[in-house]
Amino acid sequence: MRRFVKFRAVFIPVILLAWLSSFPQQKPGSTAIINSQVADGTGKPLRQVSIRIAGERIVKVGNFQPAKDEEIIDAKGLVLAPGFIDIHNHSTEGIESDPLAETQIAQGITTVVVGADGDSPWPIAPWLKAREVNPASLNIAVMAGHATIREQVMGKDFKRVATPAEVEKMAQLVDQGMTEGAIGLSSGLEYEVGSYSATDEVVAMSTAAAKHGGFYMTHIRDEADKAFEALKEEIAIGERAHIPIQHSHIKLGTVGVWGKAPQYIQVIEAARKRGVDFLADCYPYDAWHSNLKVLVPDKQYENPRSVAKALADVGGGSHVTVVEFKPNPSYEGHTIEDLARSNNITPVEMFIRLIRESDAANTEPGIIGQSMIESDIKAFYQQPWVMVASDGGIGSRHPRGAGTFPRVLGVYVREKHWLTLTEAVGKMTSLPAKRLHWNDRGIIREGAFADLVLFNPATVIDRSTFSSPFTLPTGIEKVFVNGTLVWSSDKPTGARPGRVLRLPR
Ligand SMILES: [Zn+2]
Repeated sequence: MRRFVKFRAVFIPVILLAWLSSFPQQKPGSTAIINSQVADGTGKPLRQVSIRIAGERIVKVGNFQPAKDEEIIDAKGLVLAPGFIDIHNHSTEGIESDPLAETQIAQGITTVVVGADGDSPWPIAPWLKAREVNPASLNIAVMAGHATIREQVMGKDFKRVATPAEVEKMAQLVDQGMTEGAIGLSSGLEYEVGSYSATDEVVAMSTAAAKHGGFYMTHIRDEADKAFEALKEEIAIGERAHIPIQHSHIKLGTVGVWGKAPQYIQVIEAARKRGVDFLADCYPYDAWHSNLKVLVPDKQYENPRSVAKALADVGGGSHVTVVEFKPNPSYEGHTIEDLARSNNITPVEMFIRLIRESDAANTEPGIIGQSMIESDIKAFYQQPWVMVASDGGIGSRHPRGAGTFPRVLGVYVREKHWLTLTEAVGKMTSLPAKRLHWNDRGIIREGAFADLVLFNPATVIDRSTFSSPFTLPTGIEKVFVNGTLVWSSDKPTGARPGRVLRLPR
């Protein structure tokens, strides 16, 4: 009896070890996602393979048996894609107060690039340091803003062309920002501070960004009647500064240029053939969100003739909705035409009243302008060099802030068939990753970071609207950032594994 016990004491552990070693060696804490259809980000057809996540990375892709000690997610009926990269996102302030970024991860976004339209945090280094100390649920990268730097140099005296000495100083600050971790230069040449800059100034600053391997992201000088001139300036900046171009929220925004997407695309194709590295992004809405003053290109905000032209350009006062008006919140949610009617004045007079009341309170009215047509949006989206980006972000009062990515998948892929599902995923993942020179994100392959989204292709859809901009989408089942689950069962998990991302050195 004693001999048997002794025998068993030795024998059983040996058998146990032999049995255990017949399973794949796996560190504890790994996760296997099985039975999903994988859209790997490259545009290749969907394929049913399993993937294993360990630590921050995808460590296995293929047909393998899950290990006994790993967590298994059975994703039958779901699509697994790389996490979405939003290259034009306005969460600069939001990410500080709301690092869980619920409206962003609920869309499957795993990385945001902030500092767009010429407006960025400054200086760059302490801002990025704060993101590392207080991380978000998702990854973040930052642009250096042209207008931000212009104001650093010119102060309040910015309503003029800069002197050569000032331009040199601005280029030095771009160099500083890039050294501190910015990934490129952004501009908003239609906006107040940037609009006074000469092309040469932007070329000098872009040249400084290009030296660091950065790119030039731009909200061009005019997206309306002069959209073609502004496009030519943008391409010239790219060619003169030898810098890749990221055209922000490509659009044709006035009656005068509606329907001209084919010609616009031709100009861009010609530049691409000459070797210009030109990519663009587009949000999936026929309306934009900005401030009231951008409607008036000649800045004669109280000149009835200029205002009449501005309103005609967007199809009239019924196409402009006031969404933010601090001095008189009762205006919010109404069109300029409605407000004019209830005040017994003309839409032009109402516009001027809005300008005077907001100027007196030193605020800027937020508006939504319905000013794009669907055929132009469709033509842009079908170009292989156009990616998906939101131009939204945490706290955005435009529905794109909480709806962009699910809307493309639900409306443009499933309902309208403008894009295949794998094309759309490519526009949300590998295409932005290409612009950012990130080889290990925006793709599902062994060794890549495990930024992942699991969604239901049959149900995914946005639910945010202009009157309810924060309503979360549906159909995004699980989201991983750097291997950690951040979104599951319709809520954030509370994890904040997001990192600050920079250009590869
Ligand atoms: Zn913009």
